[in-house]
Amino acid sequence: MEKWPIGVFASIDAGLGVKLEVAQELGVPTIQLHAPAKASRSDAKAAEFLKKIADMGLTLTCVFGGFEGETYGEMSLVEKTVGLVPPEFRYARTQEMMEIADFAKKLQCDAVALHLGYIPEDGDNGLYDEVIAVTREVCDHCKTNGQTLHLETGQETADGLLKFIHDSGCDNLFVNFDPANMIIYGTGEPIEALGKVGQYVRSVHCKDGVWSDAPGKTFGREVPLGEGDVGMENYLRKLEEIGYTGPLTIEREIPQEPARQKAEIGHAVNLLNDLKAKIG
Ligand code: MG
Repeated sequence: MEKWPIGVFASIDAGLGVKLEVAQELGVPTIQLHAPAKASRSDAKAAEFLKKIADMGLTLTCVFGGFEGETYGEMSLVEKTVGLVPPEFRYARTQEMMEIADFAKKLQCDAVALHLGYIPEDGDNGLYDEVIAVTREVCDHCKTNGQTLHLETGQETADGLLKFIHDSGCDNLFVNFDPANMIIYGTGEPIEALGKVGQYVRSVHCKDGVWSDAPGKTFGREVPLGEGDVGMENYLRKLEEIGYTGPLTIEREIPQEPARQKAEIGHAVNLLNDLKAKIG
């Protein structure tokens, strides 16, 4: 694969993502896929999907797991509802994440990713150790599929994420770096964070955001690529510095309206192509 192929975060029947047709029309060569709903994770649907993306000239680079009931409105809701951290959802979601990994294998995809949830500090309440244990379980399962597991960044600092990966002891646990999330959740200056976790970055999101007035207390917000506080040129320069050559996957959390997606994603593609020409 060429260096830094452009990608988009795509969805067929679940979550927010670009429609495959929009990716194709924009000439984007790669996609990450939001895992489809359970009913669509059959052998037949996998074969159908593989044929469709092959016909469209798209390469699938990563499958993202997500779960019903996840809410990102404020930090307390993230803690209670997102990923494998909340105890009441953990067992069922862990099983589902492993099913998603198996579906990704049917799609011949060797990388799966998720928002693990708000990883607690390593303290004496036992939750940190429980989250380590469940992460090992999913990583072991992915390993039998020949897959890596990528943690989406955002709800923890770079130092917290490094400690967590180290403590897990998993050799197939990596990072999907999302610079905007660090700003939106107020967890650190993203370019500096990227330098710290660089050795673990195996996939990235190109997304932009603006800081809140009170980082850590209230959330910032997502904005179109190039209009926020990430600084896309510095972001790509840092990716170059850490030796990342994988896809630049545009993620834009707007409704699936093809005309709007085409305009906004098209603008982001142009921006990244200009920066690639300048830097790459
Ligand atoms: Mg993201």
